[in-house]
Amino acid sequence: KEDLTGQTVAVVGLGISGRAAARLALIRGASVIAIDRNENLVPLEDDLDFGKYGNLKTILGSFDRKVLENADRVVVSPGVPFENHDLSLLWQSGAQVMSELDFAAEVLPKDIKLLAVTGTNGKSTVTTFVGQMLHYLGVKAFVGGNIGNPLSEAAIEYLASCASKPRFQVVVVEVSSYQMEIPTNFLTPSVAVVLNLTPDHLERHKTMQIYAMTKCRVFSRMNFGKLAILPIGNQHLVEAFKGYKDKCNVAWIGDLPGVQMDVEAKVGYLRSPTGGDVFKLQLRKMKTLGSHNYNNAAIAAFAVLGLDVGVSADSINSIIPFLSAPPHRMQIVHREADGLMWIDDSKATNVAAAYTGIMCLHEQKAVVLLGGIAKVLHADGSNDFEQLVEPLKHHRCVITFGFSGHMIQRTLHRSGLEIPCIKATNLHDAVACARNIARQGDAILLSPGCASFDEFRNFQHRGEVFQEMALANVKL
Ligand code: ADP
Repeated sequence: KEDLTGQTVAVVGLGISGRAAARLALIRGASVIAIDRNENLVPLEDDLDFGKYGNLKTILGSFDRKVLENADRVVVSPGVPFENHDLSLLWQSGAQVMSELDFAAEVLPKDIKLLAVTGTNGKSTVTTFVGQMLHYLGVKAFVGGNIGNPLSEAAIEYLASCASKPRFQVVVVEVSSYQMEIPTNFLTPSVAVVLNLTPDHLERHKTMQIYAMTKCRVFSRMNFGKLAILPIGNQHLVEAFKGYKDKCNVAWIGDLPGVQMDVEAKVGYLRSPTGGDVFKLQLRKMKTLGSHNYNNAAIAAFAVLGLDVGVSADSINSIIPFLSAPPHRMQIVHREADGLMWIDDSKATNVAAAYTGIMCLHEQKAVVLLGGIAKVLHADGSNDFEQLVEPLKHHRCVITFGFSGHMIQRTLHRSGLEIPCIKATNLHDAVACARNIARQGDAILLSPGCASFDEFRNFQHRGEVFQEMALANVKL
């Protein structure tokens, strides 16, 4: 089924995922037309990774839609909305239009178990924790998708090793809503998790109902014996999950069967929907900052146990101290001699994530940096910054910056913020200002609650710049 000899595959969008999909298509024997609207990209033919393939043509800038209509398949990168180039119309007309994720999933055999992680916040952390657990417990896994290497790389690795022995027995894939805009025909997880759902990416998905439906597509091909995990009591998810709930085993985040947390005691209670005892996961020894990470670790442990790959619950308890979250998620960058702590939570690109970040610091006061480009979270154009007033009230000060700095400051003031709020022009000035205001033992927390594109390439770039400033001890 992986052989596409004689077929033409059009790949739309040549970011990391699109390029990997193009390579996978070529390895599968197809002729590839690689398309991107950015005229400044280097054509794939001129790239060393692709140089050896003759049956490849790159089209940059505008293109004739017939190219898509005439292709046997159209593979769409997550960065390209389904509405673009009338892709959804093409799909409705019966053409084989598929996501990069699905194109890769088609290749992976049933005996490689797939664990899929989606949700608004915490995907990368949970995916990373799962990867670390499997690694420490000796289970060979590919970890990727929306984090690190795209799923197409797993398919390429599998095809390369097929003749001998697959290099992994589990694939852990982080899945974003963008990757599931097109209904999936091949993604068949043994275990799938939707971690949470709060407003985000609504410029693309329009409503929370559509956003929830898109997330729940991760369950769409799961059948009996497979494990679906989702939060209890989220109305949008419960509604979107209705069509799937009788087809697979269901476990809850926040109830049993599933994962229930006692945050005070730092214990997670885990029980499988197929029965058995409640297992106590001891999280006291976790070194990662923030109580939300107890939750993330407990969900990761539950998902790993659900995979049924011979990992014992007790062995997971033993590796809890070794878990570490990926960079730019409540990452302690630097502790100064007087105890001042610099924390990089640049990945907090929406209000809910910033809320979690600010809540992490209940034992010390923080100067909190909020800013960048705020996302429109509701149909009336509003966002949820007023929700930060409550967690901010114990802290030292807020400094807003960037494109939405003024709007955030106004919203917080209007909503009764009790602590000082200063507006800085950009991140650099915000950091310098924070350094002057912070007192002994405080934290300076970058948990911006906004996208970064007004000043930076992406959240990593923003985090790196913050870290450099933290280490250079910027002064006004
Ligand atoms: P994602 O991959 O879904 O964007 P990350 O793991 O990269 O998620 O974390 C993104 C942001 O969300 C970080 O700022 C982190 O502190 C916060 N976060 C992590 N886990 C959770 C959670 N379970 N609930 C809410 N926020 C979380």
